[in-house]
Amino acid sequence: SLSAYAFDQQQSIVCVSVCVRPNLAPLLERVKNRSAALSVPNQSPMERFLKRHLSVTQLCEQSWCEIKMAYGFVKPKVRMLEMQKTEVTTGASIHLARELEVKPDVVTVAAVTREDREALKLISMLQMVPALEAGQLVREFPVFGVLEGMFFMGVVDKLYRSDSGELVLSELKTRSHNSLPRPPRTRGHSLQVGMYKLLFDSMVKGSVKRDHLLHNLQLDPNQVLGSDLQTHTRTLGLQAVTFRELLDHLLVVLTCSNLCAIDKLRLEYSHQSSGKLIGTREVAFEEAQLRTKIRGYLAYWRGERVPQGVEVEEAWKCRMCPYEETCDWRRDRSHRLMMVNKRAKLEC
Ligand code: SF4
Repeated sequence: SLSAYAFDQQQSIVCVSVCVRPNLAPLLERVKNRSAALSVPNQSPMERFLKRHLSVTQLCEQSWCEIKMAYGFVKPKVRMLEMQKTEVTTGASIHLARELEVKPDVVTVAAVTREDREALKLISMLQMVPALEAGQLVREFPVFGVLEGMFFMGVVDKLYRSDSGELVLSELKTRSHNSLPRPPRTRGHSLQVGMYKLLFDSMVKGSVKRDHLLHNLQLDPNQVLGSDLQTHTRTLGLQAVTFRELLDHLLVVLTCSNLCAIDKLRLEYSHQSSGKLIGTREVAFEEAQLRTKIRGYLAYWRGERVPQGVEVEEAWKCRMCPYEETCDWRRDRSHRLMMVNKRAKLEC
């Protein structure tokens, strides 16, 4: 028989289909159709959305609601409007202002090719590694590497040494409310800093290989860097003509640096309108648990399961979702609840 447990705990079409009662068949058909709209048979989301790698923030969005994230791909205009909301743009401006505090001398360098654009990130890293070794605070540090068989990219907000010499990775989150968020809202934030740590640690341990970046970003290792970029690298004392030379140099610098694994993960919450710090939270790092979570999220990307929306315990998320009116998952969830309640009443 159909029970809340079947939906809440297992949340899979297979589970639903074995629990079906005849009068629930139309509802289940709609669930299947919804899944079909967000996933194409014989095509994983990686293939369907033409992806070779993922960003850390993508997985964080997924941890909020997979259906919402998937809608972002099939209904990009709605997502674009969401990204233009005042809270999002104000948050981005605060991040930029903080970055400029530690990088006051902005240099304009023309990037002509994709390799040039990636090279700019590598050059920025090459400048930040010695600063970090010298105990300085750095911001917007790019991280990349392979986690559970998938290539990920991300940008760490802040890295610094604490008074006791620990290497701290901190992520700034801005909030419209002047209070710390409740735990369900911080799940994605903890996932984000945990993944950044995994990527950063593997970079300084030498686990990231040249081909990981070249293959996953489809970059030409022999691409000669633009003339503006070459002039810039020379002013920094770097000798690199091709993208491969610059990348190899960075990988050696990372591995031979005195940087070790991240010691502490921290979330910093700041009030958007006043810019004042609301508070900080330490994040515990449980590697095995984190890797299990990542594998679970990747199962969707690899087409091993359909996307899952939020269940009734977290229905408050739907009230702030731009897809609330059109979301099939939300509609089906209400129907499922109604049916379960009706059945419970009848059985009483
Ligand atoms: Fe997810 Fe709810 Fe938005 Fe649907 S309405 S996409 S279930 S958050």
